[in-house]
Amino acid sequence: DSFQDVEMGEIIMSNIALTRYTRPTPVQKYAIPIIKNKRDLMACAQTGSGKTAAFLLPVLSQIYTEGPGEALAAQKSGGQDNGKYGRRKQYPLALVLAPTRELALQIYEEARKFAYRSRVRPCVVYGGADIGQQIRDLERGCHLLVATPGRLVDMMERVDFQHAGLKGILHAHESLTDGETGLQPIPDPVSVSYLVLDEADRMLDMGFEPQIRRIVEQDTMPPKGIRQTMMFSATFPKEIQILARDFLEEYIFLAV
Ligand code: AMP
Repeated sequence: DSFQDVEMGEIIMSNIALTRYTRPTPVQKYAIPIIKNKRDLMACAQTGSGKTAAFLLPVLSQIYTEGPGEALAAQKSGGQDNGKYGRRKQYPLALVLAPTRELALQIYEEARKFAYRSRVRPCVVYGGADIGQQIRDLERGCHLLVATPGRLVDMMERVDFQHAGLKGILHAHESLTDGETGLQPIPDPVSVSYLVLDEADRMLDMGFEPQIRRIVEQDTMPPKGIRQTMMFSATFPKEIQILARDFLEEYIFLAV
């Protein structure tokens, strides 16, 4: 019954200590090893159960151990810069979808705590705020993106956003070339390896299913089984079961 039970690396462990979480909550105790073992997960857990850390800790730990910071570091030092849009970008390795601005911000703040003193850069985008500023923030490089579905779809549809290579926020393995504007192809963009749907039932209640499907089913999103997908929901009605069937690969079901 300790965070030490699963190997998560030094940075994570020292940041957990800073948050003063002493013992994992039940959802953390069961979900963290499942996610670390690279299994898809359907978890029924309420707000207040500690579900945010249950997915952030193992996902960030994976990003650290898989060597996150190369592209971002190169960008910061001015290396590999082929011009405004051509430079190598740090695409989000993890995407977390959440129903509301408030929840997205909470997840982002928690991610910042766990990413403290690491090279991992979390970003957050949501509706009702300046989209241009959010795009510029993403252009600085992002490892973990927290987003509300509506705003993310708006971004995917923006022309300048597409030109920034981020159409492609969920860009898979191909390079972006644009004959008309002569933009440089982006070498080897890294794709979304971890996808989290938080409060999935609430997102459906709010009518976000079309936007969620648009994001998850676009051809630049790695397919299920290639990406690792985790769904969290307070309830498990028919609509969530269908979403789990469509988005998850041989998933483990967890109810706490
Ligand atoms: P969540 O269900 O993720 O919204 O978390 C609910 C609250 O519990 C948040 O304020 C967290 O900071 C806090 N929390 C999460 N995990 C732990 C833990 N292991 N020990 C103490 N507090 C925690």
